[in-house]
Amino acid sequence: MSNYRIETKCIQSGWEPKNGEPRILPIIQSTTFKYESSDEMGALFDLEKEGYFYSRLQNPTNDYVAKKICDLEGGYAAMLTASGQAANFYAVFNICEAGDHFISTSAIYGGTFNLFGVTMKKLGIDVTFVDPEATEEEIQAAFRPNTKCIFGETIANPALVVLDLEKFAKLAHKNGVPFIVDNTFATPVNCHAFDFGVDIVTHATTKYMDGHAATIGGCIVDSGNFDWEKYADKFPGLTTPDESYHGVIYTQRFGKGAYITKATSQLMRDLGSVQSPENAFLINLGLETLALRMERHCSNALTVAKFLENNEHVAWVNYADLESSKYHALQQKYMPNGTCGVISFGLKGDRATAVKFMDHLKMIAIVTHVADARTSVLHPASHTHRQLSDEQLAEAGVQPDLIRLSVGIENVADIIDDIQQALEVTFAS
Ligand SMILES: *Cc1c(COP(=O)(O)O)cnc(C)c1O
Repeated sequence: MSNYRIETKCIQSGWEPKNGEPRILPIIQSTTFKYESSDEMGALFDLEKEGYFYSRLQNPTNDYVAKKICDLEGGYAAMLTASGQAANFYAVFNICEAGDHFISTSAIYGGTFNLFGVTMKKLGIDVTFVDPEATEEEIQAAFRPNTKCIFGETIANPALVVLDLEKFAKLAHKNGVPFIVDNTFATPVNCHAFDFGVDIVTHATTKYMDGHAATIGGCIVDSGNFDWEKYADKFPGLTTPDESYHGVIYTQRFGKGAYITKATSQLMRDLGSVQSPENAFLINLGLETLALRMERHCSNALTVAKFLENNEHVAWVNYADLESSKYHALQQKYMPNGTCGVISFGLKGDRATAVKFMDHLKMIAIVTHVADARTSVLHPASHTHRQLSDEQLAEAGVQPDLIRLSVGIENVADIIDDIQQALEVTFAS
C-alpha cells in the first residue's frame, strides 16, 4: 500500500512504469504467455511460482487495475471480475458451499437480491435477509451454526440506506465470520470500509469507478484481516487441501493472500467471469478522475437535494447528506465528505405522476444505469425492481413512488432547470 493521499493514488497507483516503459498502462491483449521450458510452465500450474500463463486466470493489465483499487481501499489483495454481479457471487461463493448459510441486509441492489435469494438458493446456499436497521439482538437471531458471512452495501442501491458498518462488523466477528460489503456507491474516495471492521469489499466498477457508462466490471478487495485459520472448521475451502491443486492449503501457502488466491485460481479458473484487458484499461482511465468526480457528484447532488426539499410538489427526499435525513448521523460518521451522487425522492401524487414527470425531462435521460457523468433518472418499481412483489419492494426499501435521480457532473444549474420545467409541466393540471 502506498502512503499517498487518495487523489494521488487514483492517478499514481497500480501501473508504475520502470525506466523506458510506457507512461500509460499497456493493454496486454493476449490470451496466453510464452515460456522457455515445460518445467517452468508446470510450476505455474501448481501455483509454486507466480507468473502469467492464461488470461482467464490472470492478465497483467487487469492485475495493475486491481492493484490500484486495492491501494485505494487500503487492502491486501484484489481481483477484477467481468461484472459487479460476478464480484458479489465470487465473494460469497468463495467461502460458502451447498448446505451453508449467510446473512445479508435486505436493502441491497436488485440484482444482488435475486442472486442471493433465487440463484444461490438453487445451489443449496441459504440466505437470511435482515433489515439494515434491525437491532443487534434481531441480527444475532439470524445466525446459525452453518452461517459463513454477513453481506451489506455501504450505501444501498436504490434505498440509499447508509449501513451502520461497525454494528454489523461487531456481530460478524463475534460469530467468527467475515463481513463483506459492496462499496460501489460510496467508492473508496468517500468510504474507507476497512477502517470500520469490514473484511472484504466488492465493487461494480461499472458505476463511479468507470464513471462514463462505458464498461461493465467488478472487483473484490480483501483486507487480509480475517483470521481464517482461527475458524478453520468453518472455512475448509481455505484451510484444508484443494485436490484440484495437488493438495495446496491456501491459508498455509498464501497467508493473507489466501482468499483472493483461491477466488482467482479456483473460481475464476472454473467459472471464467473474467474482465477483458481493454475494459480494464477503460476502468483505469475512469479511476484517474474518480476523486475529482466524486467531489462534484456530491456537491451537485446536495444542491439538487436541497432544491427538491424546498419544492412544493415534492413529497419527500432521501439523501443522507441532507441534515434532515435520518441517515445523516451515519453519513457523518462513515462518509463525512459525502455519500454519492444518487438521490431518491417522491412527488405529491401517485405512480403515474412519477412516470409523467420523468417523461417530461429533456436533458436528464431515463436509463437503467446510475453513477456516471450524465444525470439520469429511473423509476425502480417500473424498471430495475419490477420483478419484485410489493412486499419485496418494501423489504428492499423501495417505495412505489420512488424516483432515483443519479446526479451527474454537468453544471448544476442546468440539472435544476430541467427538473424545474418538468415539474411545471407535470403539475400544470
Ligand atoms: C450495479 C450494481 C451491481 C451489479 O454490477 P454489474 O456490473 O451491473 O453486474 C452490484 N452492486 C451494486 C451496488 C450496483 O449498483
